[in-house]
Amino acid sequence: MRLLREHRLVVRFALGSLVAFVAIGLVLSVAVAHQFTERGEEQAAAHAAFVTNSVFRFELSAADLRAPVPVRSRRHAELARFVRTRILEAPGSTLFRVVRLKIWSRNGTVLFADDPRLTGRRFPAEEDLREAFAGQTVGGVTNLSEPENVFERGLGDRLFETYVPLRLDTAGVGPVDAVVELYQDYGGIQRQIDSGFRTLAVTLLVGLAALYVVLLPLAFRASRTLSEQNARLAEQARRLEDLLEQEQARVAQLRELNRLKSDFVAVASHELRTPLTAIIGYAKTLRQPAFAGDENNREEFLEAIERQGDRLFQLVENLLVTSRLEDGALPVSIAPFSPEEAIRGVADGLGSASRRIRVVVPVPLPKMHSDRRFVEQVIRNLLANALKFSLADSECEVGATAASGSLTISVTDHGIGIPADEVSRIFDRFYQVDSSSTRRFGGIGLGLDLVKTLVQALGGTIEVQTEPSRGSTFTVVLPLVHPSSSGEPRNETEVAYSGWWKSTLSSRAST
Ligand code: ADP
Repeated sequence: MRLLREHRLVVRFALGSLVAFVAIGLVLSVAVAHQFTERGEEQAAAHAAFVTNSVFRFELSAADLRAPVPVRSRRHAELARFVRTRILEAPGSTLFRVVRLKIWSRNGTVLFADDPRLTGRRFPAEEDLREAFAGQTVGGVTNLSEPENVFERGLGDRLFETYVPLRLDTAGVGPVDAVVELYQDYGGIQRQIDSGFRTLAVTLLVGLAALYVVLLPLAFRASRTLSEQNARLAEQARRLEDLLEQEQARVAQLRELNRLKSDFVAVASHELRTPLTAIIGYAKTLRQPAFAGDENNREEFLEAIERQGDRLFQLVENLLVTSRLEDGALPVSIAPFSPEEAIRGVADGLGSASRRIRVVVPVPLPKMHSDRRFVEQVIRNLLANALKFSLADSECEVGATAASGSLTISVTDHGIGIPADEVSRIFDRFYQVDSSSTRRFGGIGLGLDLVKTLVQALGGTIEVQTEPSRGSTFTVVLPLVHPSSSGEPRNETEVAYSGWWKSTLSSRAST
């Protein structure tokens, strides 16, 4: 079946050409059979003409043709004997064997016939007879149903009759004196036709079969070449399709990047402008003489300026670190430090919001050999989010424990939480659960992307447990000794981290 499919073209050609060859064979056979029949009948007529002009004519006299030869006369008997011995039973004439002979007068009277019952009878003069009297030899298959052929019916299944014009003058150019009609057995003629036709048909058949046999391997080879070419073309088309798909994906990616860039520019400008506007507003208010002696308001405004400044600083810091990380301009810088100091430093550095932060370090922590700036940046971002996405008076916790060479830092808030189906996306760059223009919380969606990158650079993992309206806990597990460091306490080592990044990042949503 597979072979048939592979060589469909050959099979089609084989069947198509077979049908064409059979059709050609049939048409040729019909045409050739027709030719042979014509030739056979022409030969029969020529034989009849020969018998008449070269054998029978010399036996006849003008007296025989004047009126019907009397049936019981000696002349009739003589002529009948001559016809029987020299024509009907002539040795060697089986092919165009003559079975009857009649002599016709112009008016349709049989002047003589080898069957005496016919001599003297008169029949309506037919077209054939008239043409023969006009000088033409006319032949055709005998219609045995005609009255003039009543006595010929017993002579054979099929007869061929030839009307031969008879001229008694020796030059053979004078008027036609009578017409001799000879009936020949068609069996002999048919045999002649058949033998010629058989020879030609066999030759034709063998020729066509040989041509067919020669053409088939050619078609087979051509089909193989074509199917190979087809396969190559299909392969090329497939490759082009793949390339096109890749190209389209790249274009879509570029479009998306372009869109993100525009979104980012809009959001970042807005996020920069909001704290700046507030800072400028508070500063102008403070300059007014009315507030010169108002200690309480001054303190409140200055705190607000500090809060907005911190927000600005955090934003610009995130942008800078992200950009430098991408450029590879911020390698991991390993040095020993106290993780507790780092955590407390970040918590205290959050200004007035520090009041809401509870640092939980139950047992003293060992020293860490890693990048302090990276660790602080991770904690700062997680704490900033915890404070941002919870009520202004609710408490947030940052805790740390150490076990089996790892430091586990967790940041917990009791805020809005994250819907389960969003959790997997919050670490994507610029992704925000609520990114509408009317959103409650500021930000540009860069913090967790940066946290993810930094945790990876530190060789750690991060996961989140969260429940909408109940709050979230982000847990970061970091190796106490950075994987690139030998473990020996050293002053400082710089490592380009991009080479050994192994993302073990995971996220989990608690329900
Ligand atoms: P953003 O600048 O918006 O804070 P982040 O990358 O830090 O960007 O956070 C991405 C999104 O994840 C936030 O917009 C917020 O929807 C969600 N998210 C992060 N931290 C918290 C949290 N502690 N509680 C609730 N949602 C959070």
